[in-house]
Amino acid sequence: MKKIGVLTSGGDSPGMNAAIRAVVRKAIYHGIEICGVKYGFSGLVNNEIHQMTIGDVGDIIHRGGTMLYTARCEEFKTADGRNASLAHLEQHGIEGLVVIGGDGSFRGAERLAALHFPVVGVPSTIDNDIPGTDYTIGFDTALNTVIQAIDKIRDTATSHERTYVVEVMGRKAGDIALWSGLADGAETIILPEEPYNMEEVIERLQRGYKRGKKHSIIVVAEGVGSGVELAQTIEKAVQLETRVTVLGHIQRGGSPSAFDRVLASRLGAGAVELLINGESGKMLGVQHNTIVHKAIADGLIEQRPFNKDMYQLSQELSI
Ligand code: ADP
Repeated sequence: MKKIGVLTSGGDSPGMNAAIRAVVRKAIYHGIEICGVKYGFSGLVNNEIHQMTIGDVGDIIHRGGTMLYTARCEEFKTADGRNASLAHLEQHGIEGLVVIGGDGSFRGAERLAALHFPVVGVPSTIDNDIPGTDYTIGFDTALNTVIQAIDKIRDTATSHERTYVVEVMGRKAGDIALWSGLADGAETIILPEEPYNMEEVIERLQRGYKRGKKHSIIVVAEGVGSGVELAQTIEKAVQLETRVTVLGHIQRGGSPSAFDRVLASRLGAGAVELLINGESGKMLGVQHNTIVHKAIADGLIEQRPFNKDMYQLSQELSI
């Protein structure tokens, strides 16, 4: 392999830059030329492809976002879009591609691999919702952003003796809610993987109130429904002042944590190794602190197992 490409696609996540740096440097270390593709799959379709040097990825390991930019690209979902992409890759002499992104981006990567173009995927999304890896790049940083926010909210909740509903990201996966709820001692965690019972939530609040607890934190994943509506229902039922904070996009940005930088460095370098070894249609992951890989196609049909034990623990510790 003489030349490879790298792109970031879908929602950004902290640590994407560290992953780009690892891909670029690992390739150059092995004497392989490297091109950056801007704006995800859009850059393939529209030929926004540029050679990268060691210096291009200097001073980015600690920065959130992605220096290659990211985009969503409907055109890549069409055969014409993918054929144009293949022609541009060929024009630049690119023989393999690293796709850094979430499950949507992996779907795109898989389509390219199906056309016999070597592609590997690096899981990077704050949601931690990709089967085949214990952690995705960006999850740890997002989690730390959330708990810093909830710590601050808790100060106000305590001072004013209020109940706070905090809505966090996670449309289909509740990992951010589960981990932040456990890390922050939330009274209740509501997430997509577990059905919740409103009466139980209210009973829990009343029980706490009776034993003298005058504030509560309820963490809810966005996929379950609106935090605002939840707060209104609670306020009506328990007659306790209830406020809502929707954390939104602050969860996506920021300097990546040490964990995410290390993970991104390992996975980015691992992706280049896979391409050198002639692999295609594979995604990387980390399991039990070991870098592993599997077919993207398998990962896309699997359901990521939900950590029921951790959920149970959160319930037991917030009695
Ligand atoms: P994420 O990677 O964060 O899950 P998205 O779901 O938005 O992001 O997907 C990112 C991009 O991946 C899409 O805009 C599109 O360009 C590409 N993509 C997603 N699904 C497919 C598909 N079935 N075929 C081809 N490309 C796809």
